[in-house]
Amino acid sequence: MLKSMQMKKGLLIIMSGPSGVGKGEIRKKVMEDESLKLWFSVSMTTRSIRPGEENGREYFFVSKEEFKKTLHEGGLLESNQYVNNYYGTPKAKVEEMREKGYNVMLEIDVNGAEQVMKTIGKENVVSIFILPPSMEELETRIRGRSTESEEIIQKRLAKARKELPFKKDYRYHVINDSLERCAEEIKSIIKKESQNL
Ligand code: ADP
Ligand code: 5GP
Repeated sequence: MLKSMQMKKGLLIIMSGPSGVGKGEIRKKVMEDESLKLWFSVSMTTRSIRPGEENGREYFFVSKEEFKKTLHEGGLLESNQYVNNYYGTPKAKVEEMREKGYNVMLEIDVNGAEQVMKTIGKENVVSIFILPPSMEELETRIRGRSTESEEIIQKRLAKARKELPFKKDYRYHVINDSLERCAEEIKSIIKKESQNL
């Protein structure tokens, strides 16, 4: 019997960008394209679930104790504290899915991205930074989502201003002006990078 061709390992894609820039919406659009063979890494978080979110789909919503336990057992590829809550990427599945040939997408903040780039090597990560058309538009989007209190909105906006300079560490910069256009640009990046494997 012929030995089957060795499976190509999938890409590790990191998508970052300030809160409210549209990462969640972009990801949903991009994931609709099954030809990209994408697998979204569902993070763990201690923040409260928002209306419309589902445990296990957007995040695994866990208690602070459960989060810390997983962290101390070495179960996270990276983790960070972001505006009063913890976020982290469960490690085991990422490698497993890449080995199966899936292009794994992490939607994580700049601090987490820095950790992954250090561990795996910047050149081995397809890093994409999503930019808002303007800071005014970013504020409009965070407010339009109506999911956070005024205090948290202010903290997220302050965080966004600090995060933007980190775009220099990313291979690609994509502006989320129109959702459709932005999603198309990201799909083209993934297709191009898949061919480079
Ligand atoms: P993030 O995941 O980056 O925090 P979301 O995906 O929750 O952001 O988007 C924040 C808000 O902005 C949502 O209400 C979303 O519908 C809206 N939004 C996303 N992309 C666009 C766009 N291109 N134009 C206008 N509004 C957008
Ligand atoms: P949100 O609460 O708006 O869903 O996410 C807040 C921030 O946390 C965003 O910048 C998002 O990309 C980031 N984030 C989500 N999951 C993770 C994760 O697993 N690790 C890290 N470091 N950041 C994450």
